[in-house]
Amino acid sequence: MIAISKPQFGDEELVLVREVLESGVVAQGPKVKQLEEEFAALCGTQYAVAVSSGTTALHLALLAHGIGQGDEVITSPFTFIASANSVLFTGATPRFVDIRPDTFNIDPALIEEAITPRTKAIMPVHLYGLMADMDPIMEIAERHNLAVIEDAAQAHAATYHGRKAGSFGTGCFSLYATKNMTSAEGGMVTTNDPHIAEQVRLLRAHGSKVRYYHDILGYNFRLTDLHAAVGLAQIRKLEQFNAIRQRNAEFLNQHLKNVITPQVPAGQTHVWHQYTIRLTHTDRDTAIEKLKAKGVDSAVFYPVPVYRQKVYLDRGYDQFLPVTEEVTKQVLSLPVHPALSSSDLEVIVDAVASL
Ligand SMILES: *Cc1c(COP(=O)(O)O)cnc(C)c1O
Repeated sequence: MIAISKPQFGDEELVLVREVLESGVVAQGPKVKQLEEEFAALCGTQYAVAVSSGTTALHLALLAHGIGQGDEVITSPFTFIASANSVLFTGATPRFVDIRPDTFNIDPALIEEAITPRTKAIMPVHLYGLMADMDPIMEIAERHNLAVIEDAAQAHAATYHGRKAGSFGTGCFSLYATKNMTSAEGGMVTTNDPHIAEQVRLLRAHGSKVRYYHDILGYNFRLTDLHAAVGLAQIRKLEQFNAIRQRNAEFLNQHLKNVITPQVPAGQTHVWHQYTIRLTHTDRDTAIEKLKAKGVDSAVFYPVPVYRQKVYLDRGYDQFLPVTEEVTKQVLSLPVHPALSSSDLEVIVDAVASL
């Protein structure tokens, strides 16, 4: 079976993990610091602060911006649930705005009508490795004095008019096992604002700058040096991983028939965390079975709009956003990861042609 994702580890990871174990410093230490420096350089930001996951990155970024009870954050309903849940964790309320069918990202034209006196931030999600349309989003945020918190969990090193994901607002990344680069579990917050960086550092370690002196209520959301060692080996291979994903996606775009293939807007680079087609004339469950029978694994990201998840229904959400409703029924992600061989790609093309 051609898997939908496949983490890629080699000697580079082993060497660095071994170094950590032999040093005896396994909690947050020098490897975390090194990873933060290389991650900030990757994004072109002043600061990168490592945390325990993408979810905790989002949670702490929101808290660092002072978001909490009574506030509203505008975001996409077509995402992994962590995006919106991080808003709930702070006591604030997510406000869902529909997406564009061509990019799967939040539609900037619909943001302004969702702004209320309680709105404090916009959280665009760079879904599948393609950045949201940041120029109008930044312009709206500036006009209404809102923070921008980018959910870049799927978009390591993606660009928008030459600027990297995570460098527009406060960037939040995941280093989970299946992401374009991984530390097994882990996360990163990027910013050019020294105050935000300092707040995230405090919040990840019990609100403490000096050990056993606690200034604010914080958490234990630290990354370990063992995880950072894996992340360091991975960040040094990210460009190569992304280039292979881009080559694979280009091949699929050229050869797939009968399905709507993903497009990249001018001025953007897609890093293809997922390669996602839309099925308009075929039943999706049947398609998944047919692909499986031909040895191709596929996956639905995401089958249910966030506002329709039980967690949200229980909180009184009752929305119907037409584009989100339509694409949740149509999308299907195919393998695009760097471990695919050219014969795997041929198998995928043939399997899709048979749908
Ligand atoms: C993976 C992911 C997250 C959460 O990251 P974790 O590291 O799994 O906590 C948040 N948002 C999106 C869009 C993701 O894909």
